Amino acid sequence: MKGYGAIKINQPGWIEKERPTAGPLDAIIRPTALAPCSSDIHVIHGGFGEITDRIVGHEAVGEVVEVGNLVKNFQPGDKVVIPCTTPDWEAVSLQDRNINNAHDFGLMKSFKFLSQKDGVFAEFFHVNNADANLVHMPENVSVEDALMTVDMMSTGFYGVENAEVSFGDTVVIFGIGPVGLMAVAGTALRGAGKIIAIGTRPNCVELAKEFGATDIVSYKDGDVVEQILAMGGKVDKVILAGGNCSTMNQALALVKPNGIISNMNFLDVKDKFDIPAALWALGMGDITIRSGFCPGGARRIERLLEIIKAGRCHPGKLLNKKYTGFSEIENAYKIMEEKPRDLIKPYVVIDWDKE
Ligand SMILES: [Zn+2]
Repeated sequence: MKGYGAIKINQPGWIEKERPTAGPLDAIIRPTALAPCSSDIHVIHGGFGEITDRIVGHEAVGEVVEVGNLVKNFQPGDKVVIPCTTPDWEAVSLQDRNINNAHDFGLMKSFKFLSQKDGVFAEFFHVNNADANLVHMPENVSVEDALMTVDMMSTGFYGVENAEVSFGDTVVIFGIGPVGLMAVAGTALRGAGKIIAIGTRPNCVELAKEFGATDIVSYKDGDVVEQILAMGGKVDKVILAGGNCSTMNQALALVKPNGIISNMNFLDVKDKFDIPAALWALGMGDITIRSGFCPGGARRIERLLEIIKAGRCHPGKLLNKKYTGFSEIENAYKIMEEKPRDLIKPYVVIDWDKE
């Protein structure tokens, strides 16, 4: 079968592979819609280490083509939503309520696509623990909305959960790319007061406002920390969905004592924090810094789909560039890498009867 990924580091392209097979608890899926993500680009450029001959992609909805003999809830032909994070639900770490970073396997070991096995930009891909990870595609949810639950909505909302956003909080969100935009939407759903989003791209600014941002701050108008402090002083919560290690210093300059900073940025292995003690309130400010990545599993995605079914949020609005056909994965990947100013997020729809 064919797939698109890292032939070598810094060399994306089409790769020929054996079709994967299902173990007793697993499923094999054929993607019907998929979306590239910055993590795919990160892998191809060596951000996860020496990963070569690896099909990328981790955001998809699709159709089941094969299941293992112990799978109970799915059968070939079922339309499914596939979380980008697929924990081994029998892992001992889950008994310690550590879903993502299974201590029996290591950091981020629930994120299997890309880092441990081929991803979803393929004619077929493998999903472990099918009954606990797959979700039946609801009839009254659009492909676009469903596709954006698997990573963008789950990740952005997790940033909000980690920030413990409460009624009336003033919240700053650094970055209004797809994850930051979902953090804006989640912050609004959690009942924040003022929601200050930082970004400049016009399409993203417009969607941030639609998702609930009350104020937009631009780097182009000067120092963002000074601008926000001038608007009403320090804030309750800060969510980092853009930037690098130095953005943490800006967050610390903005957060009140007793506040929470929630980091969603995937930092580079070469990055380093350099935080003056005064910024961290001399270690006396009861300031919490939390971090994490996209929670997965079926129940997580089902809960996000409930929000969509109730009409409270439409994450599919992130998808503003559509491609049709399996071979268009290449163009969708390329535009994601080029990031033209009007792009929020591209996606590819595949009708296998027409391929
Ligand atoms: Zn992603």
